[in-house]
Amino acid sequence: RERSKSPDNRPQAKRHAGDVGKVVDHYNLRPEVGVKQRMGSPIIGLKNFNNWVKSVLITRFAHPVLASSPVSQSSGPGRGKVLDMGCGKGGDLTKWGKARIRELVGVDIAEVSVSQARERWRAMRNSCFDAAFAAIDCYAEPLSNAFPPARLAQPFDVVSLQFCMHYAFETSQKARCMLRNVSQYLRKGGVFLGTIPNADQLIERLDALPLSAADLSFGNSVYRIRFEDRQSRPLFGHRYHFFLRDAVEDVPEYIVDWDNFVGIAAEYSLHPIYKKEFHQIYAEHSEQEEFKELMVRMKVVEANGESAMDEDQWEAANIYIGFAFEKR
Ligand code: SAM
Repeated sequence: RERSKSPDNRPQAKRHAGDVGKVVDHYNLRPEVGVKQRMGSPIIGLKNFNNWVKSVLITRFAHPVLASSPVSQSSGPGRGKVLDMGCGKGGDLTKWGKARIRELVGVDIAEVSVSQARERWRAMRNSCFDAAFAAIDCYAEPLSNAFPPARLAQPFDVVSLQFCMHYAFETSQKARCMLRNVSQYLRKGGVFLGTIPNADQLIERLDALPLSAADLSFGNSVYRIRFEDRQSRPLFGHRYHFFLRDAVEDVPEYIVDWDNFVGIAAEYSLHPIYKKEFHQIYAEHSEQEEFKELMVRMKVVEANGESAMDEDQWEAANIYIGFAFEKR
């Protein structure tokens, strides 16, 4: 695809129009920060909690599927193949390393993030898995535009979309393109898992605003969500603006109506097996030995057992739900 060149002839990130352009610019411009600066984030407790939730979902839904992968049973080390759509800067690479996967394909629309993910994978000292990365608009183009056929010949065991699927719900075409990319190379019995904003809760909060309110926004010191309209509630393109302190700067996002999502996913042979709010995921797993220990290691709780999140971060955590679908 065409790339423009800067005056010193370095390739520049591809320009995208409209809301997609705002999303891409936002993620491309977010600096990759070192561990020390990351730990100093005012919402580090929430960031660690989100990572803990992703680890729980991967352990619970991806590990069994990876272990039962037909490939892992017939060949050497590693257990299957994962597609990380909207992989960002590669924040889940370590989680996939722990899942002892054989191969990862990482895609994201933000080219700068994709380069950072590739570097992160190269730098992983014990990166025991093979990986390929590409910058592609996964909601507008087929995956086959980005990879040679050999890379996609073997189907995926797991497809993961973490904190990114809602951007596809701008239009029905985008949501369907996303689902086609999820399903086309996912094996039967494979799992599609992800995290998205909790539409029910967002709409409930919108409805709770006083009828006289001119500013259709709600939130706290950590996050703010602003709707443009109270009446219009289309199934696709129901836009709001999201701000998350030290993470997301007023980016346009779209409501994912769960029943609508389930309905169109079925057209791609994807059927829901799990849907939980983040607070429920915490309630269900925080007392289980393995995940309790993980909470300490991932600094979701301090050494003294106290939560690393204040009240506002805890409230912001429940903006999201985790889900899993099975390909049948
Ligand atoms: N999945 C990563 C994680 O959990 O750390 C990154 C999440 S970040 C909040 C959302 C990501 O979605 C960004 O990296 C963004 O570039 C990506 N994204 C948004 N629209 C996309 C599209 N059309 N195709 C591919 N990636 C997209």
